[in-house]
Amino acid sequence: MTKRIHNFNAGPAALPLPVLEEMQQELLDFKGSGMSILEVSHRSKWFDEVINDAVARTRRLLNLGDDFEVVFIQGGASLQFCMIPMNLAVDGQPVDYINTGTWSTKAIKEAKTLKKQVHVIASSEDRDFCYIPKAFDIDEGAAYLHFTSNNTIKGTQWAQFPNPRTVPLVCDMSSDFMSRPFDPQPFGLIYAGAQKNIGPAGTALAIIRKDMLERVPADLPAMLKYTTFTEKNSMYNTPACVVIYVIDLVLKWLEDTVGGLANMELLNREKGKTIYDLLDRSDFYRGTADKDSRSLMNVTFRLPSEELEKRFIADAQTAGLGGLKGHRSVGGCRASIYNATGLDAVKALVEFMREFERKA
Ligand SMILES: *Cc1c(COP(=O)(O)O)cnc(C)c1O
Repeated sequence: MTKRIHNFNAGPAALPLPVLEEMQQELLDFKGSGMSILEVSHRSKWFDEVINDAVARTRRLLNLGDDFEVVFIQGGASLQFCMIPMNLAVDGQPVDYINTGTWSTKAIKEAKTLKKQVHVIASSEDRDFCYIPKAFDIDEGAAYLHFTSNNTIKGTQWAQFPNPRTVPLVCDMSSDFMSRPFDPQPFGLIYAGAQKNIGPAGTALAIIRKDMLERVPADLPAMLKYTTFTEKNSMYNTPACVVIYVIDLVLKWLEDTVGGLANMELLNREKGKTIYDLLDRSDFYRGTADKDSRSLMNVTFRLPSEELEKRFIADAQTAGLGGLKGHRSVGGCRASIYNATGLDAVKALVEFMREFERKA
Protein backbone atom coordinates (compact mmCIF):
# COMPACT_ATOMS: atom_id res chain seq x y z
CA MET A 1 0.00 0.00 0.00
CA THR A 2 1.19 3.49 -0.86
CA LYS A 3 1.33 5.76 2.17
CA ARG A 4 0.16 9.30 1.50
CA ILE A 5 0.33 12.20 3.96
CA HIS A 6 -2.15 15.00 4.60
CA ASN A 7 -0.70 17.68 2.35
CA PHE A 8 -0.93 21.34 3.43
CA ASN A 9 1.62 22.70 0.96
CA ALA A 10 1.02 26.21 -0.39
CA GLY A 11 2.02 25.44 -3.99
CA PRO A 12 2.71 23.21 -5.74
CA ALA A 13 0.02 21.67 -3.62
CA ALA A 14 -2.24 18.67 -3.10
CA LEU A 15 -4.10 17.20 -6.07
CA PRO A 16 -7.30 15.16 -5.74
CA LEU A 17 -6.46 11.48 -5.29
CA PRO A 18 -8.88 10.34 -8.05
CA VAL A 19 -6.95 12.61 -10.45
CA LEU A 20 -3.62 10.99 -9.55
CA GLU A 21 -5.15 7.55 -9.91
CA GLU A 22 -6.60 8.36 -13.31
CA MET A 23 -3.20 9.67 -14.45
CA GLN A 24 -1.55 6.50 -13.24
CA GLN A 25 -4.10 4.32 -14.91
CA GLU A 26 -3.85 5.90 -18.36
CA LEU A 27 -0.14 6.73 -18.25
CA LEU A 28 1.16 4.05 -20.61
CA ASP A 29 -1.65 4.16 -23.15
CA PHE A 30 -3.54 7.42 -23.34
CA LYS A 31 -7.02 6.82 -24.77
CA GLY A 32 -5.88 4.10 -27.16
CA SER A 33 -3.07 6.20 -28.65
CA GLY A 34 -0.44 3.64 -27.63
CA MET A 35 1.52 6.52 -26.09
CA SER A 36 1.50 8.36 -22.80
CA ILE A 37 0.08 11.88 -22.75
CA LEU A 38 3.67 13.03 -22.13
CA GLU A 39 4.59 11.74 -25.58
CA VAL A 40 1.76 12.80 -27.89
CA SER A 41 2.03 15.76 -30.23
CA HIS A 42 0.29 18.96 -29.19
CA ARG A 43 -1.06 19.00 -32.76
CA SER A 44 -2.68 15.57 -32.35
CA LYS A 45 -6.39 14.87 -31.97
CA TRP A 46 -5.65 13.46 -28.50
CA PHE A 47 -4.26 16.71 -27.18
CA ASP A 48 -6.83 18.78 -29.05
CA GLU A 49 -9.55 16.97 -27.11
CA VAL A 50 -7.73 17.57 -23.82
CA ILE A 51 -7.28 21.33 -24.24
CA ASN A 52 -10.75 21.86 -25.66
CA ASP A 53 -12.25 19.89 -22.79
CA ALA A 54 -10.29 21.93 -20.23
CA VAL A 55 -11.56 25.16 -21.79
CA ALA A 56 -15.15 23.88 -22.01
CA ARG A 57 -15.09 22.80 -18.36
CA THR A 58 -13.68 26.17 -17.28
CA ARG A 59 -16.52 27.88 -19.15
CA ARG A 60 -19.16 25.67 -17.57
CA LEU A 61 -17.80 25.85 -14.03
CA LEU A 62 -17.61 29.65 -14.12
CA ASN A 63 -20.65 30.29 -16.30
CA LEU A 64 -18.57 32.22 -18.85
CA GLY A 65 -20.37 33.68 -21.83
CA ASP A 66 -19.05 33.83 -25.40
CA ASP A 67 -17.56 37.22 -24.59
CA PHE A 68 -14.72 35.52 -22.68
CA GLU A 69 -11.65 33.69 -23.99
CA VAL A 70 -9.81 31.04 -21.96
CA VAL A 71 -6.08 30.55 -22.59
CA PHE A 72 -3.03 28.85 -21.10
CA ILE A 73 0.17 30.86 -20.86
CA GLN A 74 3.49 29.65 -19.49
CA GLY A 75 5.60 31.79 -17.18
CA GLY A 76 3.28 31.39 -14.19
CA ALA A 77 1.24 34.09 -12.54
CA SER A 78 4.44 36.14 -12.37
CA LEU A 79 4.60 36.67 -16.13
CA GLN A 80 1.06 38.05 -15.97
CA PHE A 81 2.32 40.80 -13.67
CA CYS A 82 4.07 42.36 -16.69
CA MET A 83 1.79 41.13 -19.50
CA ILE A 84 -1.18 42.92 -17.93
CA PRO A 85 0.26 46.46 -18.06
CA MET A 86 1.90 45.74 -21.42
CA ASN A 87 -1.37 44.64 -23.01
CA LEU A 88 -4.14 46.38 -21.12
CA ALA A 89 -2.83 49.80 -20.03
CA VAL A 90 -4.15 52.70 -22.10
CA ASP A 91 -2.14 55.84 -22.90
CA GLY A 92 -3.25 58.79 -20.81
CA GLN A 93 -5.21 56.67 -18.31
CA PRO A 94 -3.97 55.52 -14.90
CA VAL A 95 -3.87 51.86 -13.91
CA ASP A 96 -5.27 51.27 -10.40
CA TYR A 97 -3.87 48.68 -8.00
CA ILE A 98 -4.83 47.52 -4.51
CA ASN A 99 -1.91 46.27 -2.48
CA THR A 100 -2.76 43.38 -0.15
CA GLY A 101 0.58 41.60 0.12
CA THR A 102 3.63 40.11 -1.51
CA TRP A 103 2.01 39.21 -4.83
CA SER A 104 0.18 42.51 -5.29
CA THR A 105 3.43 44.30 -4.47
CA LYS A 106 5.19 42.39 -7.24
CA ALA A 107 2.42 43.16 -9.72
CA ILE A 108 2.67 46.86 -8.86
CA LYS A 109 6.44 46.80 -9.27
CA GLU A 110 6.16 45.41 -12.79
CA ALA A 111 3.63 48.06 -13.86
CA LYS A 112 5.98 50.74 -12.50
CA THR A 113 8.97 49.20 -14.27
CA LEU A 114 7.00 49.53 -17.50
CA LYS A 115 6.52 53.24 -16.67
CA LYS A 116 2.73 53.03 -16.51
CA GLN A 117 0.81 55.63 -14.52
CA VAL A 118 0.29 53.45 -11.44
CA HIS A 119 -2.18 54.49 -8.72
CA VAL A 120 -2.11 52.36 -5.59
CA ILE A 121 -5.60 53.30 -4.40
CA ALA A 122 -5.53 51.18 -1.22
CA SER A 123 -3.06 49.15 0.78
CA SER A 124 -2.98 47.12 3.97
CA GLU A 125 0.77 47.46 4.35
CA ASP A 126 0.35 49.60 7.50
CA ARG A 127 -0.50 46.44 9.46
CA ASP A 128 1.68 44.00 7.61
CA PHE A 129 -1.13 43.05 5.20
CA CYS A 130 -3.25 41.33 7.86
CA TYR A 131 -6.53 42.69 6.44
CA ILE A 132 -8.39 43.52 3.24
CA PRO A 133 -8.93 47.29 2.73
CA LYS A 134 -12.59 48.29 2.98
CA ALA A 135 -12.75 51.88 1.77
CA PHE A 136 -11.13 53.17 -1.40
CA ASP A 137 -11.92 55.35 -4.37
CA ILE A 138 -11.49 53.90 -7.82
CA ASP A 139 -10.38 56.33 -10.55
CA GLU A 140 -13.37 56.34 -12.87
CA GLY A 141 -10.98 56.90 -15.76
CA ALA A 142 -8.62 54.02 -14.90
CA ALA A 143 -7.74 51.48 -17.60
CA TYR A 144 -8.27 48.68 -15.07
CA LEU A 145 -8.29 47.90 -11.35
CA HIS A 146 -5.91 45.12 -10.31
CA PHE A 147 -6.29 43.17 -7.08
CA THR A 148 -5.32 39.80 -5.58
CA SER A 149 -8.38 37.80 -4.51
CA ASN A 150 -6.51 35.61 -2.01
CA ASN A 151 -3.22 36.45 -0.37
CA THR A 152 -1.45 33.13 -0.16
CA ILE A 153 1.35 34.30 2.13
CA LYS A 154 -0.55 36.61 4.53
CA GLY A 155 -3.67 34.42 4.76
CA THR A 156 -6.27 37.01 3.75
CA GLN A 157 -9.02 36.82 1.13
CA TRP A 158 -11.59 39.16 -0.38
CA ALA A 159 -15.02 38.05 0.87
CA GLN A 160 -16.64 40.42 -1.64
CA PHE A 161 -14.86 41.74 -4.68
CA PRO A 162 -14.44 45.47 -5.39
CA ASN A 163 -17.30 46.75 -7.47
CA PRO A 164 -16.25 49.48 -9.90
CA ARG A 165 -19.06 50.57 -12.17
CA THR A 166 -17.12 51.20 -15.33
CA VAL A 167 -13.52 50.12 -14.73
CA PRO A 168 -12.74 46.50 -15.68
CA LEU A 169 -11.41 44.35 -12.85
CA VAL A 170 -8.15 42.48 -13.31
CA CYS A 171 -7.59 39.80 -10.73
CA ASP A 172 -4.82 37.47 -9.62
CA MET A 173 -6.88 34.48 -8.48
CA SER A 174 -3.93 32.10 -8.28
CA SER A 175 -4.68 30.75 -4.83
CA ASP A 176 -8.48 30.68 -4.74
CA PHE A 177 -9.45 30.14 -8.38
CA MET A 178 -12.32 27.62 -8.63
CA SER A 179 -12.79 27.60 -4.84
CA ARG A 180 -16.17 29.41 -5.03
CA PRO A 181 -18.59 30.76 -7.65
CA PHE A 182 -18.54 34.44 -8.63
CA ASP A 183 -19.99 36.73 -11.27
CA PRO A 184 -17.41 36.99 -14.08
CA GLN A 185 -19.00 40.00 -15.79
CA PRO A 186 -17.07 42.84 -14.07
CA PHE A 187 -13.75 41.16 -14.91
CA GLY A 188 -11.67 42.18 -17.90
CA LEU A 189 -9.04 39.60 -17.00
CA ILE A 190 -8.69 36.80 -14.46
CA TYR A 191 -5.50 34.80 -14.13
CA ALA A 192 -4.25 31.99 -11.95
CA GLY A 193 -1.02 30.04 -11.71
CA ALA A 194 -2.17 26.42 -11.90
CA GLN A 195 -0.11 25.02 -9.04
CA LYS A 196 -2.24 26.22 -6.14
CA ASN A 197 -5.77 25.10 -6.81
CA ILE A 198 -6.20 23.56 -10.26
CA GLY A 199 -3.14 21.51 -11.20
CA PRO A 200 0.63 21.16 -11.17
CA ALA A 201 3.15 23.94 -11.89
CA GLY A 202 3.92 25.02 -15.45
CA THR A 203 1.16 27.24 -16.75
CA ALA A 204 -1.18 30.05 -15.85
CA LEU A 205 -4.80 29.97 -16.94
CA ALA A 206 -6.13 33.33 -18.10
CA ILE A 207 -9.70 34.40 -18.83
CA ILE A 208 -9.94 37.50 -20.98
CA ARG A 209 -13.05 39.46 -21.89
CA LYS A 210 -12.97 39.93 -25.65
CA ASP A 211 -13.32 43.72 -25.62
CA MET A 212 -10.04 43.92 -23.67
CA LEU A 213 -8.20 42.44 -26.65
CA GLU A 214 -8.80 45.62 -28.66
CA ARG A 215 -6.23 47.30 -26.41
CA VAL A 216 -3.37 44.91 -27.17
CA PRO A 217 -0.60 46.97 -28.85
CA ALA A 218 0.39 45.62 -32.28
CA ASP A 219 4.09 46.11 -31.63
CA LEU A 220 4.49 43.71 -28.68
CA PRO A 221 6.56 40.54 -29.17
CA ALA A 222 4.30 37.62 -30.12
CA MET A 223 4.80 35.62 -26.93
CA LEU A 224 3.82 38.60 -24.78
CA LYS A 225 0.54 39.37 -26.54
CA TYR A 226 -2.77 37.98 -25.32
CA THR A 227 -4.04 37.90 -28.90
CA THR A 228 -1.33 35.39 -29.87
CA PHE A 229 -2.85 32.97 -27.37
CA THR A 230 -6.52 33.70 -28.10
CA GLU A 231 -6.06 33.45 -31.88
CA LYS A 232 -4.20 30.12 -31.74
CA ASN A 233 -6.17 28.34 -29.00
CA SER A 234 -3.05 28.60 -26.75
CA MET A 235 -0.98 26.71 -29.34
CA TYR A 236 1.09 29.34 -31.13
CA ASN A 237 3.98 27.38 -29.67
CA THR A 238 4.09 24.17 -27.64
CA PRO A 239 1.91 24.59 -24.55
CA ALA A 240 2.49 22.87 -21.18
CA CYS A 241 0.65 19.78 -22.47
CA VAL A 242 0.90 17.59 -19.39
CA VAL A 243 -0.06 20.40 -17.04
CA ILE A 244 -3.14 21.19 -19.13
CA TYR A 245 -4.04 17.50 -19.11
CA VAL A 246 -3.92 17.41 -15.30
CA ILE A 247 -5.92 20.65 -15.09
CA ASP A 248 -8.56 19.00 -17.28
CA LEU A 249 -8.74 16.04 -14.88
CA VAL A 250 -9.01 18.36 -11.87
CA LEU A 251 -11.84 20.30 -13.54
CA LYS A 252 -13.59 17.03 -14.37
CA TRP A 253 -13.32 16.05 -10.70
CA LEU A 254 -14.76 19.45 -9.74
CA GLU A 255 -17.73 19.03 -12.08
CA ASP A 256 -18.51 15.33 -11.80
CA THR A 257 -17.42 14.36 -8.28
CA VAL A 258 -17.72 17.59 -6.28
CA GLY A 259 -20.71 18.80 -8.29
CA GLY A 260 -19.55 22.33 -9.14
CA LEU A 261 -18.29 25.43 -7.41
CA ALA A 262 -21.28 26.03 -5.12
CA ASN A 263 -20.66 22.62 -3.53
CA MET A 264 -16.93 23.30 -3.47
CA GLU A 265 -17.52 26.54 -1.60
CA LEU A 266 -19.70 24.81 1.01
CA LEU A 267 -16.98 22.28 1.63
CA ASN A 268 -14.29 24.96 1.77
CA ARG A 269 -16.36 26.91 4.29
CA GLU A 270 -16.73 23.86 6.48
CA LYS A 271 -12.99 23.19 6.32
CA GLY A 272 -12.21 26.81 7.19
CA LYS A 273 -14.67 26.86 10.08
CA THR A 274 -13.19 23.66 11.50
CA ILE A 275 -9.75 25.16 11.85
CA TYR A 276 -10.69 28.78 12.63
CA ASP A 277 -12.99 27.59 15.43
CA LEU A 278 -9.96 26.01 17.05
CA LEU A 279 -7.87 29.18 16.60
CA ASP A 280 -10.66 31.32 18.05
CA ARG A 281 -11.02 29.16 21.14
CA SER A 282 -7.31 28.85 21.83
CA ASP A 283 -4.90 31.11 23.70
CA PHE A 284 -2.04 28.97 22.45
CA TYR A 285 -2.57 29.38 18.70
CA ARG A 286 -3.05 32.88 17.33
CA GLY A 287 -4.45 33.53 13.84
CA THR A 288 -2.54 36.34 12.10
CA ALA A 289 -5.29 37.72 9.83
CA ASP A 290 -8.18 39.94 10.95
CA LYS A 291 -11.32 37.86 11.38
CA ASP A 292 -13.31 39.58 8.63
CA SER A 293 -10.45 39.14 6.17
CA ARG A 294 -9.27 35.62 6.74
CA SER A 295 -8.68 33.20 3.96
CA LEU A 296 -10.48 29.90 3.45
CA MET A 297 -7.47 28.70 1.46
CA ASN A 298 -4.39 29.63 3.52
CA VAL A 299 -4.75 29.63 7.30
CA THR A 300 -1.83 31.50 8.90
CA PHE A 301 -1.14 31.23 12.62
CA ARG A 302 1.52 31.58 15.27
CA LEU A 303 2.40 29.64 18.40
CA PRO A 304 3.70 31.27 21.62
CA SER A 305 7.35 31.02 20.51
CA GLU A 306 9.46 30.27 17.44
CA GLU A 307 10.89 27.34 19.34
CA LEU A 308 7.43 25.82 19.70
CA GLU A 309 6.63 26.56 16.05
CA LYS A 310 9.70 24.61 14.94
CA ARG A 311 8.72 21.65 17.07
CA PHE A 312 5.10 21.87 15.92
CA ILE A 313 6.09 21.71 12.25
CA ALA A 314 8.54 18.84 12.81
CA ASP A 315 6.15 16.80 14.99
CA ALA A 316 3.34 17.35 12.51
CA GLN A 317 5.53 16.06 9.69
CA THR A 318 6.26 12.93 11.72
CA ALA A 319 2.53 12.51 12.32
CA GLY A 320 1.84 12.60 8.57
CA LEU A 321 0.81 16.27 8.29
CA GLY A 322 3.10 18.00 5.80
CA GLY A 323 3.72 21.54 4.54
CA LEU A 324 2.75 23.55 7.63
CA LYS A 325 5.70 25.94 7.63
CA GLY A 326 4.80 29.57 6.95
CA HIS A 327 6.30 31.35 3.92
CA ARG A 328 9.98 32.11 4.46
CA SER A 329 9.24 35.85 4.37
CA VAL A 330 6.84 35.78 7.35
CA GLY A 331 7.65 32.67 9.42
CA GLY A 332 5.07 31.04 11.66
CA CYS A 333 2.74 28.33 10.44
CA ARG A 334 0.41 28.08 7.48
CA ALA A 335 -2.07 25.38 6.59
CA SER A 336 -3.02 25.62 2.93
CA ILE A 337 -6.37 23.93 2.54
CA TYR A 338 -7.10 24.20 -1.17
CA ASN A 339 -9.91 22.33 -2.93
CA ALA A 340 -8.03 19.02 -2.98
CA THR A 341 -7.30 18.98 0.76
CA GLY A 342 -10.33 17.28 2.27
CA LEU A 343 -12.24 17.79 5.49
CA ASP A 344 -10.61 14.58 6.80
CA ALA A 345 -7.18 16.23 6.49
CA VAL A 346 -8.38 19.37 8.27
CA LYS A 347 -9.92 17.29 11.06
CA ALA A 348 -6.68 15.35 11.44
CA LEU A 349 -4.79 18.64 11.69
CA VAL A 350 -7.15 20.06 14.30
CA GLU A 351 -6.87 16.85 16.32
CA PHE A 352 -3.07 17.08 16.15
CA MET A 353 -3.14 20.77 17.16
CA ARG A 354 -5.29 20.02 20.24
CA GLU A 355 -2.97 17.25 21.29
CA PHE A 356 0.16 19.37 20.71
CA GLU A 357 -1.28 22.17 22.84
CA ARG A 358 -2.20 19.76 25.61
CA LYS A 359 1.34 18.37 25.74
CA ALA A 360 3.20 21.67 25.37
C1 LIG B 1 1.97 31.64 -6.04
C2 LIG B 1 1.36 32.91 -6.42
C3 LIG B 1 1.89 33.71 -7.46
C4 LIG B 1 3.14 33.33 -8.21
O1 LIG B 1 2.87 32.29 -9.07
P1 LIG B 1 3.98 31.74 -10.11
O2 LIG B 1 3.17 30.82 -10.94
O3 LIG B 1 5.03 31.07 -9.29
O4 LIG B 1 4.50 32.89 -10.87
C5 LIG B 1 1.23 34.88 -7.78
N1 LIG B 1 0.13 35.24 -7.13
C6 LIG B 1 -0.42 34.53 -6.12
C7 LIG B 1 -1.67 35.01 -5.45
C8 LIG B 1 0.18 33.33 -5.75
O5 LIG B 1 -0.36 32.60 -4.76
